[in-house]
Amino acid sequence: MNKKYEKLFEPIKSVLLIGGGPAGMEAARIAGIRGHKVTLIDKNPVLGGLLRTAAVPDYKYRIGKYADWMERQLENAVVNIQRGVEVTADMVKKMKPDVIIVATGAKPFVPDISGIESNNVVYAIDVLNKEAKVGEVIVIIGGRWVSWETAYCLAKEGKQVDMVVRSALLPDESIFNKYTMLDELPKYDVTIYLKWWPAEIRNNGVIIKNKEGNEKFLEADTVIVGTGFISDHSIYKSLEGLAEEVYEIGDSVSPGRIYDAVHEGYLRGKEI
Ligand SMILES: Cc1cc2nc3c(=O)[nH]c(=O)nc-3n(C[C@H](O)[C@H](O)[C@H](O)COP(=O)(O)OP(=O)(O)OC[C@H]3O[C@@H](n4cnc5c(N)ncnc54)[C@H](O)[C@@H]3O)c2cc1C
Repeated sequence: MNKKYEKLFEPIKSVLLIGGGPAGMEAARIAGIRGHKVTLIDKNPVLGGLLRTAAVPDYKYRIGKYADWMERQLENAVVNIQRGVEVTADMVKKMKPDVIIVATGAKPFVPDISGIESNNVVYAIDVLNKEAKVGEVIVIIGGRWVSWETAYCLAKEGKQVDMVVRSALLPDESIFNKYTMLDELPKYDVTIYLKWWPAEIRNNGVIIKNKEGNEKFLEADTVIVGTGFISDHSIYKSLEGLAEEVYEIGDSVSPGRIYDAVHEGYLRGKEI
């Protein structure tokens, strides 16, 4: 153990980290270095959470390297890691940890559009993670980075992509990502319908409208929803009262960026 942290904790606590994204990995790393008995459990066979998805576009591969580095650091911090296990309240009751830290991430926002439940509708996150199949002619709904990155990856594969973006072009995107995207997309078969919105999803496409009252039909065999993420407190709420200390960190509190998740994880790992 790193001697610098030796006297910083008292007493040693058993800490259960649920979720191995950047927030959970950083909290586990710091708590482990400080000498707590830490177990980190993730439902996926690979740690990293959305870092793995963020690293899918080729120009962002370094984010994957960061996830690999974090995973290696957990071994150094003597964290007990369980991969491929979905944590439930019943499991936690049996484990009886002193501290629970929930870092289970956000969930996709589901917009209220007629036809959203149709069979031809999939979510951008599942497309990037290769968990959803898509056709050749695609409409992507939403202007968040998840939708831009999905458009970029599919257009590079040679698919025809239309994007329907209600507000501004990449309003909350970092300058680095924004200009890479705005430089790259015009090289491919992508049409952006800016300041249009989807009125209805049909099994062969999407009807879109704008504020001037115009209406268009965009043909598609697959409609991809990429309208961002919302917080998800369901796991945290199911665990309240099951340990002396129960905390929630990262995107499950409020969807943000990698920096926010890591910073929150660091602070929580340092405080327990
Ligand atoms: C497409 C995309 C691109 C992005 N690009 C960037 C970028 O370029 N720069 C940037 O700063 N941010 C980016 N982000 C945002 C960033 O990835 C997230 O803010 C960050 O990953 C959130 O970290 P987290 O640890 O809170 O949650 P997550 O990364 O979502 O990790 C949550 C983990 O919890 C696990 N889990 C959930 N439920 C359970 C359970 N019951 N039991 C066990 N495990 C469970 C999941 O498997 C997952 O591994 C991007 C996001 C997306 C979707």
